[in-house]
Amino acid sequence: MFVKVAIDLALDRLFTYEVPVELSGEIKVGQLLRVPFGHREARGFALEFEDCGHVGLAPLPVKASTGRVVSARPPSGAFGERALPMKLKQISGIADPAPFFSPEMLRLVRWISDYTCSPIELCLKAAVPAAVLKPNAKPKQLLFVEPGPPDKVKDSSFTSYQRELLENIRRVGGGWVQQLCREFSTTPNTLRAIEAKGGVVIEPRNQRRDPLAGRNVLPSKPLNLNSMQRAALDQIIDGTSIAPVLLHGVTGSGKTEVYLQAIAHELSYGRGAIVLVPEISLTPQTVRRFAGRFGGKVAVLHSALSDGERYDEWHRIRTGEARVVVGPRSAVFAPVRDLGLIVVDEEHDTSYKQDETPRYNARDVAVMRGFFEKCKVVLGSATPSLESWHNVRQRKYAIVSMAERVAGHPMPDVHVVNMEEECGERESASIFSKFLLDAIAERNRRGEQTILFLNRRGYSRVLECKACGHVMSCPQCSVAYTYHSADSCLRCHICGGWTTPPAMCPECGAREFSYIGVGTQRAEQALQKCFPHARILRMDADSTSRKHSHDDILSRFRAREADILIGTQMIAKGLDFPNVTLVGVLNADASRNMPDFRAAERTFQLIAQVSGRAGRAEKPGEVFIQTFHPEDPVIQMAAEARFDGFADAELKDRKDAGLPPYMKFATALFRAKDELLVQRWADLYAKSLAKCPGLTVSDAMPPALERAEGWYRYQVQIRAASSKQIAAAWRWIAQVRPAPKDVRIALDIDAVNVM
Ligand code: ADP
Ligand code: ZN
Repeated sequence: MFVKVAIDLALDRLFTYEVPVELSGEIKVGQLLRVPFGHREARGFALEFEDCGHVGLAPLPVKASTGRVVSARPPSGAFGERALPMKLKQISGIADPAPFFSPEMLRLVRWISDYTCSPIELCLKAAVPAAVLKPNAKPKQLLFVEPGPPDKVKDSSFTSYQRELLENIRRVGGGWVQQLCREFSTTPNTLRAIEAKGGVVIEPRNQRRDPLAGRNVLPSKPLNLNSMQRAALDQIIDGTSIAPVLLHGVTGSGKTEVYLQAIAHELSYGRGAIVLVPEISLTPQTVRRFAGRFGGKVAVLHSALSDGERYDEWHRIRTGEARVVVGPRSAVFAPVRDLGLIVVDEEHDTSYKQDETPRYNARDVAVMRGFFEKCKVVLGSATPSLESWHNVRQRKYAIVSMAERVAGHPMPDVHVVNMEEECGERESASIFSKFLLDAIAERNRRGEQTILFLNRRGYSRVLECKACGHVMSCPQCSVAYTYHSADSCLRCHICGGWTTPPAMCPECGAREFSYIGVGTQRAEQALQKCFPHARILRMDADSTSRKHSHDDILSRFRAREADILIGTQMIAKGLDFPNVTLVGVLNADASRNMPDFRAAERTFQLIAQVSGRAGRAEKPGEVFIQTFHPEDPVIQMAAEARFDGFADAELKDRKDAGLPPYMKFATALFRAKDELLVQRWADLYAKSLAKCPGLTVSDAMPPALERAEGWYRYQVQIRAASSKQIAAAWRWIAQVRPAPKDVRIALDIDAVNVM
């Protein structure tokens, strides 16, 4: 018997090995195997069995569904030219007997590989946390003290001190050596002495590294659903249709409670669930809501976990100890058995798109996984992506709407503020309108809270020479440095490089600079000046670099330790603070003016989501949206939360322009250290792809970010009626025109960032 193995080399090839007789009954698809490769041993996943290998056959590469299948032998010597029978190498052993992938999961990974044109090995790798695959990864073992038989206590060989200690250990039911030593002021040697006399048994045991340890989780009971929630739940748990359900519920309509009860339903039938949440900042709060309801059945997977925590959480899922998984996009691959439900919360969110190979969108992977594993998929959002909205119109997805907030809480009052009319005399007039300041003052007086949103971190956006207008920029990237007041330095937000502000302009030698633009830090300072007594918290990538810092800031805000929370898009979504009655969007034009065909959609989502943070409990909410274009229909419709109207208008524009969701849209990104080289290759690809039937291909052009980390960048945009056409053309060009080593080329199918 033979087995095809994917080895971690990104060659997009499977290698065939012979299964030795002694292992023949034990090899399963999805297992991690040890195999000889060249002169070393490699590890790879068993993907499929084959009856006849290539023995006695001409070693023609066989086209498999995922890639080419070739011999494990290095392609030299007898291999290839002469059609001699050849002996395949044997696998050396099984690295882990429990398969990492079920057959359905393998199917899913292959689908991703095909759909995104990515090597199968990279897709497999994306589906298992690196912490789990590390060769030396293992559970944490500590010594555990288990009390011996009860009558032992009476044993006369114990000293009175030992007997007292033993009674204490019995009382607390045993424990870890370290913990008992601390608790009863004793030493490991004393415990060993008691063990020698048979009083306790000391043995190594796995200690769970629990990401929720020390985080307070309050148990919660199911709420009484209102009629809209009940209808939504009924439709989700209804077993007659397997179409994904789009849950379109305005902010504060109680979607999370619907998810919770849908999951409880699945658990009662012995099935598991996955809940995808967009960003790390959302995770702690959401995780706590799920852990509060389902306790130890919940596992968390997100990027801020330690390797050990991730290893343990993943294994808790694989063994079935954890049945509900909460996490960001990679959690869609969690090895949950008997999966009954996948929830994609805030399904429109772009963080579901992975921005490195394989460039999958976890929302779409969730829908495919649901299809392969015959489980339900719920996509929830107050502002669905136009892709999903289109799928509803096409009747591919079912829809259920929750148009009102729970318990009759009204939607907030939204005011659009024309920043043109704010006079420039008052200090900070360019940041805060008078309307907004008055509203904040009112909240401070009433002891209510305010959230201010500004999609730009740092103190001021850029440092500009007053004499010649030269802007200090990163030498590696084509972007201006951002000034950070905390450590008085200029930082590049692309490569992370930094420098100190120069004493004089490198262009003209002048010594005066001005700070242009407003970042979160500067806004925070200006705000503090306006309200010297207000307690302000800031949340952005700079203030949240420590582990748990997101969670800490949000917990403090929730505990009303601050009056105002100011932050970047991190605070736009999902947060539920009952005492927040005012939300301000400081600059709605920032996203509106992005050179991306989804700028309108993003602006609508942003305004609707941020507004959704206001007035979620009894107290009514108010929202101020500051803009220089108050007449813009997108801003108007967002202010009125008219999603249907917005979607109708925007879909019509997209249809006329031949853009998603009516056409498939991909970008190809070319990178090289040499500008001419990257331009030449981008040109070559653009011209060749343009000849492929069914494809509309742009000219090769530099994107908004022309240079990053020293690499020149070029972009080609590709459109077609189906993704298959794009993938086929891409495979062809990659084969006939393979790029040299110093040019990096990547296809991004369904690109979400067009810049
Ligand atoms: P969404 O996710 O749609 O924005 P949430 O699920 O966060 O809304 O619900 C908003 C608030 O309403 C939460 O504080 C939640 O506990 C509360 N809530 C949800 N459903 C009910 C209900 N049926 N009865 C009372 N309160 C509810
Ligand atoms: Zn840089």
